[in-house]
Amino acid sequence: MQGLIKDLNGLLSPAQVLSQPEEMLAYANDATHYFKSRIPDAVVLPHTTDEVSKVMQYAFTKEIPVTPRGAGSGLAGGCTPVNGGIVMDLKRLNHIQEVDRNNMTARVEAGVVLKRFQDQLEPLKLFYPPDPQSASVCTIGGNVATRAGGPRGVKYGTTGNYVTGLEVVLPDGSIINPGGKFVKQSVGYDITRLMTGSEGTLGVITGVNLRLLPLPEANRTIVVVCETLEQAAEIVAEIIARGAIPGMIEFLIKLAITVMNNFFSPPLPTDGEGYLFMYFDGTESQVEYEAKVVTGICHDMKAKEVRRIDDPKAAQAYWTARANVYPLIQTIFQRATTEDITVPRNKLPDLVRTVQTIAAEEGVMIGLAGHAGDGNMHPSVLFSQVTPEILAKAEVAIDRLTRAGLELGGTISGEHGIGIHKAKYLAWELGDIQIELMKRIKQAFDPKNIMNPGKIWMEGGGDHA
Ligand SMILES: Cc1cc2nc3c(=O)[nH]c(=O)nc-3n(C[C@H](O)[C@H](O)[C@H](O)COP(=O)(O)OP(=O)(O)OC[C@H]3O[C@@H](n4cnc5c(N)ncnc54)[C@H](O)[C@@H]3O)c2cc1C
Repeated sequence: MQGLIKDLNGLLSPAQVLSQPEEMLAYANDATHYFKSRIPDAVVLPHTTDEVSKVMQYAFTKEIPVTPRGAGSGLAGGCTPVNGGIVMDLKRLNHIQEVDRNNMTARVEAGVVLKRFQDQLEPLKLFYPPDPQSASVCTIGGNVATRAGGPRGVKYGTTGNYVTGLEVVLPDGSIINPGGKFVKQSVGYDITRLMTGSEGTLGVITGVNLRLLPLPEANRTIVVVCETLEQAAEIVAEIIARGAIPGMIEFLIKLAITVMNNFFSPPLPTDGEGYLFMYFDGTESQVEYEAKVVTGICHDMKAKEVRRIDDPKAAQAYWTARANVYPLIQTIFQRATTEDITVPRNKLPDLVRTVQTIAAEEGVMIGLAGHAGDGNMHPSVLFSQVTPEILAKAEVAIDRLTRAGLELGGTISGEHGIGIHKAKYLAWELGDIQIELMKRIKQAFDPKNIMNPGKIWMEGGGDHA
């Protein structure tokens, strides 16, 4: 990489090129922190699409790896520079370029932080539903690249359901604009959807067209305390089977409630094992009706307590605590590795039982939370201490969990993506023919393999540090 920094300083201003060791260290990982990665040789901070294009043209000529990065909040090791090279931090591309009220669409640059965008829509009575729990830091470009979801997935779908067009810089620096401001299109292969979920391996997303919805006028929050985890899972499956679709159904275990209880007044009882946080949104009469129906289902199924939270401020406290459960858990454990298994919703009780069996048989502690309404659960192996013995047991447990999710008809990742974390399991889900097809698509976009190399497919990486 001789002369790399000098060359990059010739393309961008010196303030947009970082190379100090402590700065490089900060860009070596994402929110996982526990995968082995190299540190980058340089970090660039482009402000415009043209600057992104200039850097890509240079990297293409010199065959230098480039890893796009949003906020680095990913949970799959996706933005870690496993082969070194350049990390491209896209947070300076941060303009909300258009909110078109009449067309119910918006156009943003890729580095816009999700919550900032959603906050800007609210006074306009507009709504962009995708809600990864990292909304206060993650970028919309990162959400598109991982096809991120969140609690609202059960009713509103995930990021992929809202992207109508993109601006993308390809590995050789050329710029394309698949899709647009329209909400449907039938013109050849759908490159917009192909880029959505491509985890930085096909190009750099610089601009995003999004579809918007009207902001629901009313909402209700209900918290349900259940005797057992199975009971909580069975209530979720029953709610879905009866055709009631809440705006969110989140599943939590007692351990999570104990760390979240500081947020609530009065605190939640800790004599249950499973907890459901539910949210209903729509018109006033709709939310009242749905909350009543679901409360009835919970009582029919003998929930210990169904707590209705009418005060909007109090309700917000529950959702803020829910959004922070992963960082809160990390304050009491040395490490928490999070899986992202998604199963058909009627299989949720089976998944919950299987998680408990595997934890007991392998002698590891597995926390469980997730967006239960869409079958997406996040079993997390919790390490009080990280030792080689526990790492080995955890690996067996995660292999078994992943296999069990697939056997239940599910997928290895509902929203976090593959990165390096789940590359090992890709063939279990997709098989050789689909993987070969994907590799040929990668080759067509990125013939020199400079775009976030070492991700999605098992090419080394994924080892715990
Ligand atoms: C506390 C916490 C809660 C979370 N909750 C959720 C959740 O509910 N749902 C969920 O889906 N995820 C969740 N996540 C994971 C993470 O926040 C999401 O994956 C998010 O979409 C990542 O966005 P980012 O901007 O941080 O991207 P990064 O982590 O920086 O990058 C993620 C991937 O996208 C690529 N990428 C980033 N920007 C671009 C771009 N502009 N062009 C091309 N490729 C790009 C990177 O190369 C990498 O492969 C959570 C994470 C944390 C820490």
